[in-house]
Amino acid sequence: MRRTSGAGTRRPPGEANGVGSGRHGEGDRGATERPARDPRAPLPTRLTDLPPLPTAAADAFRAGLAAMGIADLAPASLDALEGHLRLLLAWTPAVNLTSIRDPETAVRDHLLDSLAAVFTLRSRGADALLDLGTGGGFPGLPLAIALPARRAVLVDSIAKKTAFVAVAIEAVGLGGRASALTARAESLAADDEHRERWPTVVARAVADLAELAEIGLPLVRVGGCLVAWKRAPLGAELAAAAPAIDALGGGAVEVEPAHVPGREAGRLVIITKTRPTPARFPRAPAERARERRRGAPTALS
Ligand code: SAH
Repeated sequence: MRRTSGAGTRRPPGEANGVGSGRHGEGDRGATERPARDPRAPLPTRLTDLPPLPTAAADAFRAGLAAMGIADLAPASLDALEGHLRLLLAWTPAVNLTSIRDPETAVRDHLLDSLAAVFTLRSRGADALLDLGTGGGFPGLPLAIALPARRAVLVDSIAKKTAFVAVAIEAVGLGGRASALTARAESLAADDEHRERWPTVVARAVADLAELAEIGLPLVRVGGCLVAWKRAPLGAELAAAAPAIDALGGGAVEVEPAHVPGREAGRLVIITKTRPTPARFPRAPAERARERRRGAPTALS
């Protein structure tokens, strides 16, 4: 594994870029109006080089935050949250970070959905988090900004994703508190710096709960929690994961509505860790896959 810095990006930091031109003023209404970018132009790395969010998307963000009861964010935090998304939207045509191109949809499905865990994590006093399979930085970077977190490590096994996340962290001014890390969860679980260390591990759209418990719970310290972003109905997935959660040291499993407007099926699954994870977990990916094919999750216990 290696830490990723902005210097490792495919395109070096550049001056003014081909994405943000003066044409993206207030009142822009979506990605379809954006001119095609010059594929040879360097990708932007600074928020000042980016167009603002289209007005409709910025309004949807404010309205969504209000509806979710997260009205206490400082202006600098709001700027950082929007900045992360603006950078993602600017990079997405060149680097495949998300399938979502429409800014309003991205506000809801990336920013607001990531922030769904703010209350839960604040109420647990979570001030440090590891985001497993962070992709374009979700949910870890918005949470690190909004909680705020004292320390956040955003992990993905794909270097081009962590390269983006490293740039985003710097661009939004979180360089002192957050970092991007290119690694597989399995190797972190074998690393004393991470195993049984984290008060909070978050993961969205990474794996089913049984699999996520196996790669995520080893990183959580006893008393901490693993938070998974899921959608209802969840009964079968929860039942299938129960033996794995127990075997890996998990205790109470709570399911909360995510309260994101327009994503009514969104749920947060919060697994509190009550015992250390036995050293034999996580098993090798091939062994886990064999077991899944056999459909025998109880073999874990
Ligand atoms: N969490 C992001 C991205 C979801 S896509 C979001 O919700 O938008 C899943 C991501 O998990 C991919 O980027 C993939 O590279 C990463 N991933 C999957 N398995 C992983 C593992 N074992 N270790 C590290 N990253 C993993």
